[in-house]
Amino acid sequence: MAFEKNMNLDYQETETEKLDSQILGENLRRLQVIGLVGLPVNAILLAISAIRNGIAGLSAPVSILRICWIVATFGYFAASGFLRGVERPGKKHSFAFTLAAMLCCLFASGITVYNVSQDTATLVYIVVVLLIGAFLYLDSASFMIVVVPGLVTLYVGLFSKTIEPSRLIAVLVNVTALHFFAGVLALFNMKMKERQFESERALNRLNNELKALSERDGLTGLPNRRKIEETIEFWKAVFARKPDSLAIILIDVDFFKEYNEARGHLAGDDALKTIASLITNCLYREADFVGRYKGEQFVVILPGISRLGAFTIAERIRLAVQDARLLYEGKQAKTLTVSVGAAFSEMCSREAFDPLTALADMSLSEAKKNGRNNVVIQDIF
Ligand code: GH3
Ligand code: MG
Repeated sequence: MAFEKNMNLDYQETETEKLDSQILGENLRRLQVIGLVGLPVNAILLAISAIRNGIAGLSAPVSILRICWIVATFGYFAASGFLRGVERPGKKHSFAFTLAAMLCCLFASGITVYNVSQDTATLVYIVVVLLIGAFLYLDSASFMIVVVPGLVTLYVGLFSKTIEPSRLIAVLVNVTALHFFAGVLALFNMKMKERQFESERALNRLNNELKALSERDGLTGLPNRRKIEETIEFWKAVFARKPDSLAIILIDVDFFKEYNEARGHLAGDDALKTIASLITNCLYREADFVGRYKGEQFVVILPGISRLGAFTIAERIRLAVQDARLLYEGKQAKTLTVSVGAAFSEMCSREAFDPLTALADMSLSEAKKNGRNNVVIQDIF
């Protein structure tokens, strides 16, 4: 109970935040790949220009755009954790991604405008916009933010040049259709991603439900033996790092066989359910844990408690069951009671955990010997 609560105290990301962060992480990586494609292409074209026209070739507007593109690509690699990746992508990564994708379109459109006299002028722009549409996850708004500045630059640039009208119309129609196509691709990617995330979430939910079921005792709903072992391992790990006080309490229903014989097995089951909820109601703190140990035995784990606190809870449990007056006609008793064996350590280490459990068992035997319906608590030093 408390163990699970403890784990839920951590900050929980909402599903939308998880999806956004997953999409941003993938977008950051995918844009790096696009950058990796663009980098050698720009470098080779720059080199060709330098070979053809000498150093002067590097001061041509297209070369300057290519140099800016290369510098921006390295800037993006640095901002998006190239090779290492980003563990928790946040707002600044989102900004770097959008800016880099937008600049990519802008540089491509600038180069297209300057090279418009060449037949292959629009090729670089087409490739960039298609890569962005096909490989990135963008909703309509993000797609517009990324492509519109480049598109506007292209329109303005083309209109300011003296281009043959038929060629101008052909370029404009091609480019506009291209954006429509790339936008649909990006949106399709996004929808597929959302659907994939939804099915993963449904699968996770199912897994969690199955895990929760496998950790519960079917009759009482309390954590079962497997969960008890897991909880013990958890606290052992905690105490290995920082020893603290600990109490382990074992609770055994007295003469339960007689109760079953007198009232039937189903009534016995009901009594166990009642006792389970009575014990649960005796625990208040976040870290307190109760589980069904076996048959008519329960275990309570109380980390960070005082000796007096442990005894008080043990006695509270005993009284709660006694006061519930679960009546029956037995040879030895008339109402159900429990015997409670507890063990306490002021400074429990990992190694002391098992001896403490054994001592709680001995305390329980002692309580039975003392005539049942009583509490025995022993200490380990
Ligand atoms: P003691 O005071 O010494 O503990 O006597 P006891 O009769 O409680 O102990 P014993 O070990 O002789 O019997 C335990 C009984 O608990 C026998 C078993 O049938 C019953 N029991 C264990 N689990 C369940 C259960 O899930 N439902 C029911 N109805 N009975 C159970
Ligand atoms: Mg018993």
